[in-house]
Amino acid sequence: MAIVEPATGAELGRAGLADADDLARAARIAAAAQPDWAAASFEQRAAVLRRAGALIEQNAEELQRWMMRESGSIQGMVEFATYVASQECYEAAALASRPVGEILPTAQPRLSLLRRVPVGVVGVISPFNAPLILSSRSVAPALAFGNAVVLKPDPRTPVSGGMILARVFEEAGLPDGLLHVLPGGAGVGSALVTDPRVGVISFTGSTGTGRKVAALAAEHLKRVHLELGGNSALVVLDDADLDLAVSAGAWGSFLHQGQICMTAGRHIVHESIADDYVGALAAHADGLPVGDPTTGQVALGPLIDASQRDKVHALVTGSVDAGARLAAGGSYDNLFYRATVLDDVRTDMPAYAQEVFGPVAPVVRFGSAEEAARLATDSSYGLSLGILTRDVSRGLALAEQIPTGIVHINDQTVNDEAVAPFGGVLESGTGARFGGNANLDAFTNQRWITLRGDIAAYPF
Ligand code: NAD
Repeated sequence: MAIVEPATGAELGRAGLADADDLARAARIAAAAQPDWAAASFEQRAAVLRRAGALIEQNAEELQRWMMRESGSIQGMVEFATYVASQECYEAAALASRPVGEILPTAQPRLSLLRRVPVGVVGVISPFNAPLILSSRSVAPALAFGNAVVLKPDPRTPVSGGMILARVFEEAGLPDGLLHVLPGGAGVGSALVTDPRVGVISFTGSTGTGRKVAALAAEHLKRVHLELGGNSALVVLDDADLDLAVSAGAWGSFLHQGQICMTAGRHIVHESIADDYVGALAAHADGLPVGDPTTGQVALGPLIDASQRDKVHALVTGSVDAGARLAAGGSYDNLFYRATVLDDVRTDMPAYAQEVFGPVAPVVRFGSAEEAARLATDSSYGLSLGILTRDVSRGLALAEQIPTGIVHINDQTVNDEAVAPFGGVLESGTGARFGGNANLDAFTNQRWITLRGDIAAYPF
């Protein structure tokens, strides 16, 4: 399979496409290798994770170049990706030595314990949009707790989403058989979900695919952690600093061409400042250079492929046809979609109501705080939320009324830290979390253990 650079259409290299037989073999080898790894001391496991983090840092420039070309990311985005991926490894190294259980109360003369044990083999399915971050946030902690991992990256980004990690962990001294990278599509993904040796699935992708994965996992009584789509709101209150709000709004909607699950897909702006906000955001959008990220400092690179571009454009034109005003953008050249601002937006217009996954900022106006809360809540998704205001308490009071997994007061919606528990509610996921201590729940099983000095006596 050709690995295609979206900015130029050039072939960057070729990758194998795994099939269900490859998957079964990988799962078998992983299951055989895992017990020795689980039995290794946490110091050994942590050392591998630390070396992996250091290798990502030391080779950051080379890795960034790959990500820039394979996924069309700009310099700032790939720098962020190598930073977060190395932090995922360091944080996982620290988790390896955390307490693995607790002492439980018991009514019997015995010691009663809860112990966290590795799941065995963890299956990871990751998407194209931030491949290194979204693969490493599961691979690193799963390995740290003594699991083996079978990773299926998106076939459009097999290097950034998989091979980089395979190479890094090989050099870091991870014993053979513990990490398998199998690029492939839906068929391999389904085989991973149904393989009896794979105990837990960590899935990041769209809500539609997440539903299918969840249904299949349910049939096989398998635990699945789902991190899905979003259509996050950025609420701008009347007292917000306009210049800073516009810059935050542009970053939240246009970073990585809007192909981020936390992208600000809905700008909900107080009516007293909305005209100024739209004017300034449109001017900002018009001034953002779009082009091949490798040729210099551009703010937006290409969308991943033509089908994604056509989907974005259909949502924009559908909204304009329904009466929205194109304040900026709305056109493209090849895969390069211009930063787009839509005004006079109604909440039933497609670019507002649906996840666009492109560089599009639709703006709606509100009058009262109640109206802002109602508008922001009116979505089937619940991933991230940003509220911009000079009055932090007012921002927090508003946030309390809007159900999302993540909220940032005085920041836009796109944020990620390896130490923070990341996840969404409603159709953005199952409420499961990755990051920090939440990784314990995601990548271990719990075991109840009791110990008595003498054998218990029974009536018969
Ligand atoms: P997608 O659901 O089409 O693909 C995601 C992964 O699932 C890919 O590896 C794909 O090959 C695989 N896949 C496809 N069909 C499958 C099946 N039937 N069984 C198993 N695996 C299958 O996602 P996409 O559209 O390429 O990615 C973008 C989506 O991901 C957006 O909706 C975005 O919001 C979401 N996303 C969510 C998060 C999060 O943390 N919540 C992060 C990044 C992206």
